[in-house]
Amino acid sequence: MYNILIVKYGEIGVKGKNRYLFENKLIKNIKNMLKPLGEYNVYKEYGRIYIDVNDENYEEVMEETRKVFGIVGVCPGIKADKDYDVLKQTAEKLLEKKIEEGCKTFKVESRRGDKSLPLTSPQMSIDIGGYLLTKLGDRIKVDVKNPEVKIRCEYREFNTMVYADTVPGYGGMPMGTAGKAMSLLSGGIDSPVATWMIAKRGMDVECIHFHTYPFTSERSREKVLDLARTLSRYCGPIKVHCCNILEIEKEITEKLNREETTIHSRRFMMMITQKMAEKRGCQAIVTGESIGQVASQTIYGLTCTNAVCSLPVFRPLIAMDKTDIIDIAQEIGTYEISIVPEEDCCSVFAPPKPITKPKLDRIEKAEEKLDIEGLVERAIETIETIVCEVE
Ligand code: ATP
Ligand code: MG
Repeated sequence: MYNILIVKYGEIGVKGKNRYLFENKLIKNIKNMLKPLGEYNVYKEYGRIYIDVNDENYEEVMEETRKVFGIVGVCPGIKADKDYDVLKQTAEKLLEKKIEEGCKTFKVESRRGDKSLPLTSPQMSIDIGGYLLTKLGDRIKVDVKNPEVKIRCEYREFNTMVYADTVPGYGGMPMGTAGKAMSLLSGGIDSPVATWMIAKRGMDVECIHFHTYPFTSERSREKVLDLARTLSRYCGPIKVHCCNILEIEKEITEKLNREETTIHSRRFMMMITQKMAEKRGCQAIVTGESIGQVASQTIYGLTCTNAVCSLPVFRPLIAMDKTDIIDIAQEIGTYEISIVPEEDCCSVFAPPKPITKPKLDRIEKAEEKLDIEGLVERAIETIETIVCEVE
């Protein structure tokens, strides 16, 4: 029955003169997303994006398309000849399907995109609604206020179109329209969600992961790469820079105050990230921090970790509760991977009683005992970059 998908996009519609750039980017991103499924005709017409499909493939194409950032919804539709009677018959076919699915009330919404039709849009709705009632009125009623299904009918310049359902997308902006960020990716629940949220706003992302191999296992690294692969279902291939900070952790544990080690190691992570971000042409840093969640994420802790970065640090989860973060993790498919227990470099070296009110000047003073530059340089030299993509 369905032969076309109608792609609806929100915010990018208001971008004025740049609109076409955003639309073209979106089309390119949709094509990339669909590549594993085959070649698809994705095109723009009258400020909307369409994809030609058929009965066999429309469901999987719709499922992939709705994951593309910038899309608010995808509607499976029926495109037919430009003929008003054909439009009515198509509407009847679709309404019949909806009745079979259990719908009891409907409403027609119309759009006259071609003024050669003598009926106005509201007149079209009344006329088509009447037609549908004569054909199917014994099985379904009209409800203009709160219909279970809206049959949308369009009479257009070159064809007619009928559709009813909208499968929601995630909204946001097309990737690649807002610069690039370096995201700190751990094996936890939070950072994959933070990375996803930033990508959703149109930023390209690369990830950096810190480990202390052989204190942390090969498996814990594989877990992080698995998370990146899951993210790549939405973002396309993602580079993950794996950095060994064993030397740093050892130095901190040996030479600095035990309660403050977490803050120091977080600061080193940020210093290394800042360097890598600059090197890779990123304009921002992303973390999965949420205020008050753990000792290092009190406002005092965040102040200390923030102080080593000159790029803006985006923390999309800052004001979110864990339960809301988990909901997103489940929706995007990272949760099940994140909850597999694996040691993290922080947990291996974490002090039993981390400080919750670290003082920046004290922390900075303590670090004077270390060869910061040398440690950072040598950590960067350990970096191995892995490109993660959907298998
Ligand atoms: P997550 O669930 O993402 O691991 P968390 O609640 O465990 O977060 P922390 O361990 O304090 O919080 O880390 C805060 C943030 O610092 C993480 O969200 C992540 O962005 C970054 N981070 C922590 N550990 C690492 C790591 N080993 N490699 C890369 N980034 C890390
Ligand atoms: Mg963590």
